[in-house]
Amino acid sequence: SAPLPHRTIAVAAGDGIGPEITQAVLDVLRAADPALSFAPVTVGLEAYRAGHAAGFDRDTIDAIAEHGVILKGPITTPQGGGYKSVNVSLRKTFGLYANLRPCVAYHPFVATHHPGMDVVIVRENEEDTYAGIEHRQTDEVVQCLKLVSRPGCERIVRYAFDYARLHGRRKVTCMTKDNIMKLTDGLFHRVFDEVAREYPDIAAEHMIIDIGTAKMAVDPTRFDVVVTPNLYGDILSDVAAEVAGSIGLAPSANIGRECAMFEAVHGSAPDIAGRDIANPSGLLLSAVMMLVHLGRGAAATAIHNAWLRTIEDGLHTADIHGAHSRERVGTRAFAQAVVAR
Ligand code: NAD
Repeated sequence: SAPLPHRTIAVAAGDGIGPEITQAVLDVLRAADPALSFAPVTVGLEAYRAGHAAGFDRDTIDAIAEHGVILKGPITTPQGGGYKSVNVSLRKTFGLYANLRPCVAYHPFVATHHPGMDVVIVRENEEDTYAGIEHRQTDEVVQCLKLVSRPGCERIVRYAFDYARLHGRRKVTCMTKDNIMKLTDGLFHRVFDEVAREYPDIAAEHMIIDIGTAKMAVDPTRFDVVVTPNLYGDILSDVAAEVAGSIGLAPSANIGRECAMFEAVHGSAPDIAGRDIANPSGLLLSAVMMLVHLGRGAAATAIHNAWLRTIEDGLHTADIHGAHSRERVGTRAFAQAVVAR
């Protein structure tokens, strides 16, 4: 096949284990897709300390806007100060409306109660109570605005159905609480039903979020793609990742109209930073999602297969070491094993 065109990606190594897992992932990306180059930007503690309250500076914004994608290591959120969340700020700056989290079981190599689980949560990423619009009414009463728009609902629901079609998935489940929030969640549900009619090839169902989350915990293999408003999606996607048994392996994508950000679900793990023992898999699988997003399917497949083979060969970092491990490897050795495969 023809060589892929050159493409530059903004890369933020982040804090804690961020620099080591980012280096590991770049080693694998360079081996699989030599036409990629990387533009380093500073996001996280270093940016905060330099006085950028959002945790990133103008150069970072320019680089993301120019290159269209950023691969981001985890950030340590300073405690006790009035710092904003870097993720929420980046989502707002770049209109990253879709948060995509695949939750996959890697039975038997990573312990799980649900072999065969393979769910993708599509979470609305800009609206709902997560817009953070709060105010004080009186000394004893505070209020949060739950903002839901028809264009916002249409965008995310359409994204979920398009994603399902593109990835050969068969069903989209919508979860809301529209029996109680008849206007806001009611709009999300109504738009879901309208858009679903345009995708007769994909099954569509709606569940109330509480029973849906309960079912995700005990019977996750009944789900395929799930689309849900922001706050519910935040909670549901953590439940689903934990149920899959692999929260440390879980990748995520934040997709916008012009830009996208890819990062692992886990945090900066300061307790193990600098020891070459962190698992780079969450960020590596996020990089695979990035390659798919960029239309570089061959490189994505090569890396995903090599990663699966490494896991199947029992080369495991300490966090997933268990009955099916053959050898405990560090961050660098794990990345080299993936490159070799
Ligand atoms: P964490 O995910 O960093 O760590 C939880 C536990 O999992 C720790 O024991 C850690 O050692 C382990 N762990 C996490 N990632 C691992 C990996 N790749 N390999 C092996 N073990 C791993 O969660 P936390 O301790 O609650 O948070 C630490 C910092 O990360 C906080 O400042 C938090 O705000 C931040 N955080 C950032 C993001 C992000 O940038 N997207 C997400 C979550 C948390």
